[in-house]
Formats: sequence, C-alpha cells, structure tokens
Amino acid sequence: MLTLADLGVLRGIHQDDEGTIVVAITPTYSGCPAMATMRADLQSRLARAGFDRVEVRTVLSPPWSTDWISEQGKRKLAEHGISPPRPAQHRAGGPVPLTLTPAPRVICCPLCGSTDTERTSEFGATACKSLHRCRSCGEPFDHVKEI
Ligand SMILES: [Zn+2]
Repeated sequence: MLTLADLGVLRGIHQDDEGTIVVAITPTYSGCPAMATMRADLQSRLARAGFDRVEVRTVLSPPWSTDWISEQGKRKLAEHGISPPRPAQHRAGGPVPLTLTPAPRVICCPLCGSTDTERTSEFGATACKSLHRCRSCGEPFDHVKEI
C-alpha cells in the first residue's frame, strides 16, 4: 500500500554517464528484513521497464526517520487501520538520556479517532510497530513507532 517514495526510503535516482540507473535508498530500521525485498523489487521493476543496468546504493547518512514518511503515506497507513507515526523527537547530539519507564504517549485510534487507547505490546507483527487497543471501539491496531 505504501510506495518507497511514500516511506521516504527512496532518496534519489539518476542515470550515470554509462547509462546505468543509480537508485539511492536509505534503510528504515537497521536490520529491517524488508530492505532486501525493496532492493529486489526496484531491480525487477526497472528491468521490466527496460532498464537492465541498475545499481541500488544504500545511503546511511542522514539516518532515516519516520518524519520522512510522506503525508500521503501517513494517510494510507491510517486508511488501512495502522496508526501513523507522530513527529519524531530529534536531538541535536550530545548525551542521550535514558529512562527505565516508557514516556507516556497519546496514540489515536485509526479506526474511530479516540485518544482513549492503551498499548498492549511494544512490538507488533514487525519490530517497527507496537500493538494498541482502543477502549472506545474495542478494536486492536498497530502503531508505527517514531524514530
Ligand atoms: Zn477506536
């Protein structure tokens, strides 16, 4: 449902002097198992479109953030019952304060819009999502965690 552009994974694409299509992508989470699939999909789709010389480059800096998910991507997530990430809290560097308890977060139910929700698990079907339940409509839902 989301394109690589929606996800903010697609950083750039150009054709070099030898005619090779060079695609730059930034991984979402380190160790995200979907990256190999994304890379293979890019190569097969471009090959189908007639571009047989394709190079997919991984760009690690700056690191990907959920802030790179487009507004259209966030809307598609919500339309599919997944709570989109809120703006991530970025630090300008320096020490990273650690806490033993998670910061309280208000997560809206993507199904009814209620803020009366609770987290049932820090990890959902994938490591990048947490599991929540809406106390208003009773439905469970995933939330894409902010990074
Ligand atoms: Zn609800």
